[in-house]
Amino acid sequence: MRPEILFPFFKPITTLAGVGPRISVLLEKITGAHIVDVLWHLPTSYVDRRFSPTIAEAPDNTVVTLEVTVMKHFPSRNRPAPYKITCFDETGPLELVFFNARGDYLQKQLPEGETRIVSGTVERFNGILQMTHPDRMGTPEERDAIQTVDPVYPLTAGITNKLMGKTARAALEKTIPLPEWLDPAFKDRKKWQDWQDALKTAHAPQEEDDFYADAPARERLAYDELLANQLALALVRRTVRKASGRSIKGDGRLRKQVRDALPFALTGSQEEALKEINDDMGQPLRMLRLLQGDVGSGKTVVALLTALNAIECGMQAVIMAPTEILARQHMETIEPLLEGTGITPVVLTGRDKGKKRTAILDQLEDGSAQLAIGTHALFQEDVGFHNLGLAVIDEQHRFGVHQRLAMAGKGKHVDVLVMTATPIPRTLMLTAYGDMDVSRLLEKPAGRKPVDTRVMSLERLDEVAQGIGRMVSKGARVYWVCPLVEESDKIEVAAAEERFEHLQKLYGDRVGMVHGKMKGTQKDTVMAAFAKGEIDVLVATTVIEVGVNVPEATVMIIEHAERFGLAQLHQLRGRIGRGSAASTCLLLYGAPLSENGQARLKIMRETEDGFVIAEEDLRLRGAGEVLGTRQSGLPEFRLAQLPAHEDLLAVARDDVKLILEKDPDLKSARGEALRVLLYLFEEDASVTYLRSG
Ligand code: ADP
Ligand code: MG
Repeated sequence: MRPEILFPFFKPITTLAGVGPRISVLLEKITGAHIVDVLWHLPTSYVDRRFSPTIAEAPDNTVVTLEVTVMKHFPSRNRPAPYKITCFDETGPLELVFFNARGDYLQKQLPEGETRIVSGTVERFNGILQMTHPDRMGTPEERDAIQTVDPVYPLTAGITNKLMGKTARAALEKTIPLPEWLDPAFKDRKKWQDWQDALKTAHAPQEEDDFYADAPARERLAYDELLANQLALALVRRTVRKASGRSIKGDGRLRKQVRDALPFALTGSQEEALKEINDDMGQPLRMLRLLQGDVGSGKTVVALLTALNAIECGMQAVIMAPTEILARQHMETIEPLLEGTGITPVVLTGRDKGKKRTAILDQLEDGSAQLAIGTHALFQEDVGFHNLGLAVIDEQHRFGVHQRLAMAGKGKHVDVLVMTATPIPRTLMLTAYGDMDVSRLLEKPAGRKPVDTRVMSLERLDEVAQGIGRMVSKGARVYWVCPLVEESDKIEVAAAEERFEHLQKLYGDRVGMVHGKMKGTQKDTVMAAFAKGEIDVLVATTVIEVGVNVPEATVMIIEHAERFGLAQLHQLRGRIGRGSAASTCLLLYGAPLSENGQARLKIMRETEDGFVIAEEDLRLRGAGEVLGTRQSGLPEFRLAQLPAHEDLLAVARDDVKLILEKDPDLKSARGEALRVLLYLFEEDASVTYLRSG
């Protein structure tokens, strides 16, 4: 339960002065529903009103605060003409300009003959300095309240900066000091303020540097957020690790049989990963390990050999894929490899219903199915296992982080190996998994040829469509990927259908199509035809993105490549270059291409190293955009900026390690403060993993 000290922070924003029901609806969209959300909404720039030159010295197009004597009012004679007021100081004249002004109000604010302070942007017209609609006006006594530095906030329609500023000030007034959760020595070294002061500073920038990610106040707040993130992950992970006491150490009999039958030798990376995994499984702790390997690096064999370790111990294993196509494909790859071992894998996906499903469930329950391959259908409530020892989750970024951890924590004592083909940058890995055990497949299987990647305008689409004819006649198989349409998969499918018809006119029944709206069986039939070479050109939406393996495919064409994320393009391109023949990838872009788009496509042309691509993607787009944060299940930060705060993240990780060594149940004074921190960042669930939450 949330500690009482935080209650003021979690009151609805409607309890703030000036935030009524209408405003709160708008405000909520950019901040969130609680006072704490307003606190996290930091200014992104500021208006500096401290500069107070004479009229003659005031530079054009700058914000200045001027002390002037009001000379004369010139009310507008007709509507569109402005109301003007002339003023002066000892160096020259100033003209104040108002549109749609109320004369009586201006007479009161700026009486003729009086001295007044005005603040706003000035510019010169015909040599005369003008200020249109001063932002602030007042008497000389009010100078201090006028000549300030005002924060400028990110806004939304209907919320002015003035209102946002007022709301932020009101929210800051509701804050109270919180117990310090930082290590005092570390805080001193960093010269960071207390939390509440840091928050106030971050909301009151005084100079350019105050907006930078390395401004001390912003660093402190970012660190707090990262610390909460790392601590929460560490607590979940610790619970998961502790939960099982099974040591899985097979005798290697089945693994030897399968390895001997493989048509290739494992790469050094694969061997190393298997060693790390086997060591981990042999521990009387629950394994929670990530296997990271670029597309085509050979994760499937590693998954299978890992599963066999469990099966050798008389346990069951599951391999879970994010899509039906992939689950079936794993089945097709794995089944022949198991020949002669006496193991018959079963497949379970959402498509299996009725009697067939019941039969599979029975086999899982009585243990006769030693290996199950499937989609998340495997984890539905009514699916029970006789003795599940291992779950391999492939392409796991499709599943939410918490979902994944929760699944492992649900109480079935299973070791978990998650596999991802998306080379998530190290930085983001840490925020999504904490200090998780990672094995990486850095080496590609021998015999891979580099893919020749070219970037060209969509205007040449017809030429390209004609050109693939030549390639196909030489035996090439071609993927043709249709544009990603974020807003509507209907449009996406329509685009695929249109391209399909277009290519069919050229190549007749050598062309096939798969898209997300097709039935599973239909998709499988088309994919199988493509794999067998019954069709040569496969028009597809991004359903082929993940994992599909047709080594004979050597050409990939991607329409509107600029709309895809780099990680996605990399995944797509990974579908080719898998066989012995040379491969070509054509990235077609819609002109005009933005600078960022150009930079991204350039990276695709220059490298095939998934980790380099991932790092570049992070650099170019920032953490929020990489992989599409929402779909990726990566956490979104309010205060921390990645990669700018990468160093702090590493420090937070180490900090958490020390904290949990010294004070595993967060019982010390600092521990108590850290609990407050977890609640402050709404990591409530993680606190339940503490012995006395
Ligand atoms: P991914 O990591 O993308 O899932 P896969 O497991 O699908 O990669 O492997 C891609 C292809 O490489 C498959 O055809 C697989 O049989 C093959 N392969 C895997 N390991 C090796 C290896 N050590 N040497 C040669 N080919 C391999
Ligand atoms: Mg795979």
